[in-house]
Amino acid sequence: MDFSLSADLVDVRDRVTAFIHDEVIPLETSVRSQEELPAETLAGLRAKARAAGIFAPHVPAEWGGMGLDMHGMSVVFEAAGHSLLGPLALNCAAPDEGNMHLLHLVATPEQKERYLRPLAAGTIRSCFAMTEPAPGAGSDPALLTTHAERRGDRWVINGHKWFISGADGAAFAICMARTGERVEGRQGATMFLVDAGAPGFRVVRRIGGLDHLAPGGHCEVLFEDCAVGDDAVLGAVGEGFRYAQVRLAPARLTHCMRWLGVAQRAIDIATAYVARRQAFGRPLAEYQAMQWMIADSAIEIHAARLMIWHAAWVLDQGGQARQETSMAKTFVSETVNRVVDRAVQMCGSLGVSDHLPLADFYREVRAFRIYDGPSEVHRMAIAQRILRDLERS
Ligand SMILES: Cc1cc2nc3c(=O)[nH]c(=O)nc-3n(C[C@H](O)[C@H](O)[C@H](O)COP(=O)(O)OP(=O)(O)OC[C@H]3O[C@@H](n4cnc5c(N)ncnc54)[C@H](O)[C@@H]3O)c2cc1C
Repeated sequence: MDFSLSADLVDVRDRVTAFIHDEVIPLETSVRSQEELPAETLAGLRAKARAAGIFAPHVPAEWGGMGLDMHGMSVVFEAAGHSLLGPLALNCAAPDEGNMHLLHLVATPEQKERYLRPLAAGTIRSCFAMTEPAPGAGSDPALLTTHAERRGDRWVINGHKWFISGADGAAFAICMARTGERVEGRQGATMFLVDAGAPGFRVVRRIGGLDHLAPGGHCEVLFEDCAVGDDAVLGAVGEGFRYAQVRLAPARLTHCMRWLGVAQRAIDIATAYVARRQAFGRPLAEYQAMQWMIADSAIEIHAARLMIWHAAWVLDQGGQARQETSMAKTFVSETVNRVVDRAVQMCGSLGVSDHLPLADFYREVRAFRIYDGPSEVHRMAIAQRILRDLERS
């Protein structure tokens, strides 16, 4: 096992680190009190990222990006994640990053020109519409109720989605809909590319919540007799669940990469604070209770990083890495939440104030234990794979 990084990758990582430190972090305070990053601020950051040669690190070179593999992304996305604004500045934030990956693998050449090119250039945003209110799809995608029915030469989509990140202001949605009788067992669902202006496609509202930085919020969306042509089918009819896996396994890992950067920055801030702050005659850092929080965070971040790197390696070898990405997602999401919570505690009142970014981290990171599969669902899937293997052997 060789854990060393290539000179090229170290160079990119260091340039991203410098960019986040010099250009992105100074903007954090000014946007802290706002609902989301103003469009002109984001456009300015992206122009600087482009000029620094670090824009769209995950996008293949033919589509205007840096063409990093998953291993390279592990290193660079973590560096970008040191600021909540970093992945947005580099155009490698969710949900666009996962959608670009899916489009690159599945879309037709015409669909790539129409959707992937502007998405990769950062001139439009997108969303991925899967989750539905009860009794529809949530933790269990097989409960999918949104359906697309064939009428003449059109597909007519009807359904109710919610918690769709970025839907308000997105140029298009990738909508998961039932197109067959059977939805279980990876059959019967299809993905559709639906333009924002399409008749029958409606963003009802942004749903308020803990976090506030995602451009376009998390929205309730309706498809009401929304008619699209065959050119809106993403990939093949009936392959929706297979494509969802194509999107979700790498996407849950790239989430881990970005959030790990947040955890690292949180504990760095807290460690610097306790090294200086005095209580009861000595710096806080001299108390064992503080040292254990520093040490436990370092151990867990290191373990999280190795899990990400390993899962990335499996994906780079052409594996599906379902077990590895499920394990990484569960462990990293819980680690990041624990580390950020400790960092808040170590910084006392400043930890929950807007003097430090920790309160923002705390708000933004909680949902990661729920989306892209709640921890309980991943644990169930991990155990089921182990039990299946046992039965086979
Ligand atoms: C900030 C945010 C952004 C999101 N963005 C998107 C998006 O862009 N597109 C999209 O389609 N969806 C998105 N979602 C939705 C997300 O994917 C769902 O919340 C998630 O799949 C869980 O579904 P649910 O909320 O309906 O929870 P439910 O299915 O109602 O589950 C509730 C809880 O039950 C528990 N649970 C579930 N199954 C099991 C089990 N087998 N064993 C034990 N416990 C279990 C879990 O703790 C779970 O949290 C987002 C959600 C959030 C919070």
